[in-house]
Amino acid sequence: MSTLDELLLVQERDLALDRLRHRRTSLPERSELAARETDAARVDAEVKELQRGRDEVLSEERRLDDEARSMAERVREMEQRLYSGTISSPRELQAMQADVDMLKRNREGIEDNELEFMEQRERFDQQLATAEATLAELRAEVERLRAAIADAEREIDAETAVEEEARADHATRVTPSLLADYERRRGHNRGAGAARLIGDTCQACHLSIPSTEVENIRRAPEGSISYCDNCGAILVP
Ligand SMILES: [Zn+2]
Repeated sequence: MSTLDELLLVQERDLALDRLRHRRTSLPERSELAARETDAARVDAEVKELQRGRDEVLSEERRLDDEARSMAERVREMEQRLYSGTISSPRELQAMQADVDMLKRNREGIEDNELEFMEQRERFDQQLATAEATLAELRAEVERLRAAIADAEREIDAETAVEEEARADHATRVTPSLLADYERRRGHNRGAGAARLIGDTCQACHLSIPSTEVENIRRAPEGSISYCDNCGAILVP
């Protein structure tokens, strides 16, 4: 096999490697992963905000509960004294009864307030449960996508290793100066440094070459190198 034919095999492997690199960077799971990660971050912030709200309401609920309890305790103490028979002055008894009645009314007010906070807290709890379930689903999806990407990468990397080995093998049979020329041209021609000339068409750019030029290329002595005037690829007759 001629050095130019070997060069075409190098070109084939390079194109295969280009496709593998492109496949690796543009895996559809990557954009999906980015979108799910953004969603998860948003829902995570929502969960934290809801937790803050719930905790605030809960601490107010507990504060009111403590207040209601201590008032109930005071009412109990006062009623004990009231009915103990130790106070005989009717005016004093009347005043104490009035205090007890007022305390009971206040306690009821606090309990109503506490109930409102409890209802608010329950609404927070429901919203939190929903948001946390959504977050768990999103995180599971993120994990699934990461695993799928890792699998695809492993598969592509294995194919890449095979192609690289084949490429290196063909490259050893191409003269270094020709290989360097090819690589430079490939860099300027979207990956096509060498191409087969079929009929009068360059297989890199698919444009026609003038027939006299085609004749010259076909009759050129062994070892001479021709280039496509259109795209600059090394032409292999
Ligand atoms: Zn061309």
